[in-house]
Amino acid sequence: MTPFELEGRYAARNYEPLPVVLTRGSGAYLWDVDGRRYIDMMSAYSAASHGHGHPRILAALEGQARRLAVPSRAYYNDRLGPFLAELCKRTGLDAAIPMNTGAEAVETAIKAARRWGYKVKGIPRDRAEIIVAEGNFHGRTTTIVGFSSEEEYRDGFGPFAPGFRAVPFGDLAAMQRAITPNTAAILIEPIQGEGGIVVPPAGYLAGLRKLCDEHDVLLILDEVQSGLGRAGDWFAFRHDGVVPDGVILGKALGGGVLPVSAFVARAEVMDVFTPGSHGSTFGGNPLAAAVGLEALHVIQEEGLVARSRILGAHMHERLRAMRNPVLKDVRGRGLWAGAEIDPIYASARDVCHRLMAKGVLSKDTHGTVVRLAPPLVIARADLNIALDLFEETLNEIAWTRQPAVA
Ligand code: PMP
Repeated sequence: MTPFELEGRYAARNYEPLPVVLTRGSGAYLWDVDGRRYIDMMSAYSAASHGHGHPRILAALEGQARRLAVPSRAYYNDRLGPFLAELCKRTGLDAAIPMNTGAEAVETAIKAARRWGYKVKGIPRDRAEIIVAEGNFHGRTTTIVGFSSEEEYRDGFGPFAPGFRAVPFGDLAAMQRAITPNTAAILIEPIQGEGGIVVPPAGYLAGLRKLCDEHDVLLILDEVQSGLGRAGDWFAFRHDGVVPDGVILGKALGGGVLPVSAFVARAEVMDVFTPGSHGSTFGGNPLAAAVGLEALHVIQEEGLVARSRILGAHMHERLRAMRNPVLKDVRGRGLWAGAEIDPIYASARDVCHRLMAKGVLSKDTHGTVVRLAPPLVIARADLNIALDLFEETLNEIAWTRQPAVA
């Protein structure tokens, strides 16, 4: 059977992949089983921000795998401390709890916020509320999809956990109205990723920070996708000059080779965890910690944040200059753009198919948005080729699919 047939026969149908079978990757390139090379404009949803097979990450992975990989948190290990110290240094926060996937780190943040709400803020038992944004994406656990506004993510998976309230993203007045004495935290993506790469109005995060300070509410930012250089700064919250009470990291923290996530917070928040109150068999294992630490070092030492900022500015400038009726809007920051396709002409998926045929891999989100988010190590020349091919695709669609005119 071919790889298509095998996955078609044996894989659950919760994904609908583009019809390409990948077998190798290096930097910003991916190759399929027929030896065709593609420019990666997706970076595994930011997980491959360092590029595929980064030599330093592979060296850390291999060296640590040979030494010690998974002894569990029942014992100390010599790699976890340095990794968490670096996470705290980078975020400006006090302590971290290592997990594996993004969703687990979000769950950890929810637990921390609720416990803080009861033990520090004094919210009556089981009454803590967390305010989230409409259009959010924080992962796929039953608790998390329970506060999603996307019916596709929720349908058939209830009953859902109570204690969440959603308000429109970017609307400070709505957020203010939603806060009650039982509000423990606001949990929000600084830039919504899966929701379509939606950048909130300037000053939104600063406004949230102020509301949180006024009402004794935690500001917890999910930077699983936006963080670690993707948005042209170490963290997207830096653009607004705010300091959150907690930040959730994942994806690129694993250097493109492992799932590594963390919740990092102020001491007052993290101190609510006591032995036995939370844990993870794999979280904080030396293999993950060694890779995570190297992933942070590579971002710093190879100047990936500056690359994202500079190449990102170039990418956004080029996208804005593409005056094409198919392209309705371009949003984002750094090497992270959402190109909104006018559905009169084509679906975002159709655009991704056409790009694939030209040797560029991307992924649609929300039906109408093509994400352009290459590894931060991409060469300017390759970025330009991918953007040329994107423009060519838009032109082809505009040419062949003129909407009916009266
Ligand atoms: N938070 C955000 C902002 C995300 O984009 C994602 C994944 N797309 C997650 C959390 C969940 O991460 P994971 O798939 O590793 O659980």
